[in-house]
Amino acid sequence: MLSRMVVKFPAGPWELDWADTYKAGLQKLCEGNYGVCLLDYRLDDGQDGLQLLKMARAAGNQTPTIFLTAETDPALDEQALQAGAMDFLVKAEFTPRMLARSVRYAIKLGDTLEQLRLLATRDPLTGLRNRREFERLLADEWQRCARFQRPFALVVADIDFFKKVNDTHGHAAGDAVLKHVASLLTGQLRTVDHLARVGGEEFAIIMVETAAKDAQETIQRLLVLLAESPCALPDSAESVSVTISAGIAMMPEDADTTNALFEAADKALYTAKRTGRNRVVMATGAKHAVKP
Ligand code: GH3
Ligand code: MG
Ligand code: MG
Repeated sequence: MLSRMVVKFPAGPWELDWADTYKAGLQKLCEGNYGVCLLDYRLDDGQDGLQLLKMARAAGNQTPTIFLTAETDPALDEQALQAGAMDFLVKAEFTPRMLARSVRYAIKLGDTLEQLRLLATRDPLTGLRNRREFERLLADEWQRCARFQRPFALVVADIDFFKKVNDTHGHAAGDAVLKHVASLLTGQLRTVDHLARVGGEEFAIIMVETAAKDAQETIQRLLVLLAESPCALPDSAESVSVTISAGIAMMPEDADTTNALFEAADKALYTAKRTGRNRVVMATGAKHAVKP
């Protein structure tokens, strides 16, 4: 029925792909790059489409999804919307025109949501994640670490004497330096790590499944590379070299909460600043220190 309807949609050509089990559907949805997903409520093995959609969303997939079901059930309709569906159509009731319109709306709404997501989670200057998104990722990673005993490193890094760049070369030069540092950090980290701009000239990194020694070595390599990579200034033949200082705290050794982990990394960063800058300092495991 759908393949007959879909070829007649306006603004095509449209292609209909198909999965006939829960497992294949979830895999295709997460791996494929579909414009829209039409999802049956009842699936094989007693599984349902709601569960499939929840799993896909948890894996970060945001494909606009429309539920198709045999029954009219307001509770189901509500649950589908809660799970992130854009629309809910009853199989016996919809016409090709209704389906085409629902698909068009779902795609448009999906685009708008994607724009909003970018605005809400990204720093416009560097394109990196913003502080709020970083805190969300940190809370996620914290839970994963607690459940599966996966250690991770939290790095906070701050550009040294950045105010001087602004004062000497102007704000636009400062912005260029921020982009330069952001792109160098991005290039040196693994794609699984999370990098964010969490303040004016402050960056934070979650290095997943990483031991203290490896985190320290990675950041040390980064410091050397940055110091050797001058940043070209806009509208000028000049370039400027900057360094960063960094503090690293380890989960689970250094803290019992994400806030305490941030504090431990910040404290280590402060030590790096105080002891000469352009260096990385590990937190001292304050969690285990005897309190006075
Ligand atoms: P330290 O080595 O101790 O970190 O010194 P610093 O000069 O880097 O630190 P300070 O906190 O004194 O100055 C940070 C400056 O960063 C002040 C602020 O104007 C500037 N800044 C913050 N956000 C931006 C931005 O988006 N663009 C530019 N160009 N400057 C920014
Ligand atoms: Mg600074
Ligand atoms: Mg700062």
